[in-house]
Amino acid sequence: MSINHLRHIINGESIKGTCERDFDIYNPAIGEVTTKITGASASDTAKAIAVANEKFGEWSKVTPSKRAQIMFNYRELIIKHTDELAELISKEHGKTLADAVGEVGRGLEVVEYCTSINNHLKSDFTADVSTGIDSYNLRQPLGVCTGIVPFNFPAMVPMWMYVVAIACGNTFVLKLSEKVPSCGLRLTELMHEAGLPNGVLNTIVGDKEAVDEILSNEHVKAVSFVGSTPVGEYIYQEGCRHNKRVQALCGAKNHMIVMPDADLEQSTDAIIGAAYGSAGERCMAISVVVAVGDETADRLIESLSPIIKSLKIGAYNEAGVEMGPVISKESQQKILSYVDAGVKAGAKLVVDGTSVSENSEGFFIGGCLFDNVTSDMSIYTDEIFGPVLCIVRVSTYDEALTLVSDHEYGNGTAIFTRDGDTARHFTSHVQVGMVGVNVPIPVPVAMHSFGGWKRSLFGSSGTHGMEGIRFYTQLKTVTSRWPSGIRKGAEFHFSSGKDV
Ligand code: NAD
Repeated sequence: MSINHLRHIINGESIKGTCERDFDIYNPAIGEVTTKITGASASDTAKAIAVANEKFGEWSKVTPSKRAQIMFNYRELIIKHTDELAELISKEHGKTLADAVGEVGRGLEVVEYCTSINNHLKSDFTADVSTGIDSYNLRQPLGVCTGIVPFNFPAMVPMWMYVVAIACGNTFVLKLSEKVPSCGLRLTELMHEAGLPNGVLNTIVGDKEAVDEILSNEHVKAVSFVGSTPVGEYIYQEGCRHNKRVQALCGAKNHMIVMPDADLEQSTDAIIGAAYGSAGERCMAISVVVAVGDETADRLIESLSPIIKSLKIGAYNEAGVEMGPVISKESQQKILSYVDAGVKAGAKLVVDGTSVSENSEGFFIGGCLFDNVTSDMSIYTDEIFGPVLCIVRVSTYDEALTLVSDHEYGNGTAIFTRDGDTARHFTSHVQVGMVGVNVPIPVPVAMHSFGGWKRSLFGSSGTHGMEGIRFYTQLKTVTSRWPSGIRKGAEFHFSSGKDV
């Protein structure tokens, strides 16, 4: 098989990296390297940042309407190239084509949101805060913004970042995941085709060396990160130490509470899609079901088990495939070791999909289901990021609520019930950032904002929606008076609107 060689895109040009490390990119369904790239070194990264810094003055003066026009063009191009983008995602990530098409669609929503960037940047104006004096706000871009992204959403997560930042008038350096770079590079080419001037979006592929340059470079004003919690915590602390604005969206352990009155069929379908879709490699995947009452747990296990055993596992381009491989051999081994740890800790492995991993060169693992999981087990405390679902049995709703709220992660959660009072109590009291009521993966649409709580997000801003606009802009408040106002002489006291 011939190997495809990729290059970085800096100032609209295709550039070979100068890092000492080459990255191998696999097709995880066959376990083979299909693509390679020489990583971006610290100096390549500094060059991308310097270009973005140089272009900022010009780009920030382009009117929001003209920037929106580019987003309209970009929208058309993404729609036209959706199948191609989805194939690039699936080939390197392993998720099914239908799932990859869905991911491109979620990224597209952000582009659509930014076609009306004028609307989101409009400001407040107050006439006559004092006699002849008006006050108003401006939302202005920051300068060079940057994005460091994970492997599991090669299109959607980068689009949460650069699309909003650029629409707000910033320039951008995007550091793609070294495991799945092809789609992000192609999206960058399409952005240029849409009319974006060279140097506004610069896309590199690198590891810690590139990230450390981003975190310490004096021209970088903001860092957006999505990835695992230990790396996110490091990025948040280092970025803040260098006085950058930082948002770091991190790991998760998402619980779904199933109340005794929940619709069993609806709950079963929801759990299957949310736990095993994308092989469990979603930050909003359901990895814990909290069953309220033994009868609820028994009924769920009875309905879930045959479906999990019959999941069609295979490569993204096989007909009818429901679940693909996980991203790498290391990831597969890590997931298998968690299953082992769960059994040793005393949880009951009701469905054991581990043997699937023995029958292929690809990084496959079958769906696993644990019952009788307790909160001290590593399969409960840790993010496994694979197709492993834990059932925790509790007796009451209050116990379920406490369990969810006490977990160190607080990304997403859901409750399945027919009772409005319980649902309302849950949505108001649970200590988690994104909550679903009979919706298993409550990923907010682009006009709302995405972000977790606790160790699922460091910093105070989520992505897209108004949170995203606020993150990529700074507020300026102007108080203005024109010479025709009344002359009162110098004022030595601190004046207020009540003064004439
Ligand atoms: P990761 O933390 O390994 O990598 C994320 C990014 O950080 C990559 O670009 C990588 O190159 C870089 N990186 C890795 N190690 C680094 C280091 N030591 N120093 C500096 N940079 C480093 O995450 P991943 O495995 O690519 O993605 C999976 C994780 O992302 C999961 O934990 C998942 O929950 C999380 N995630 C969170 C969200 C969210 O919105 N909360 C969304 C998607 C994924």
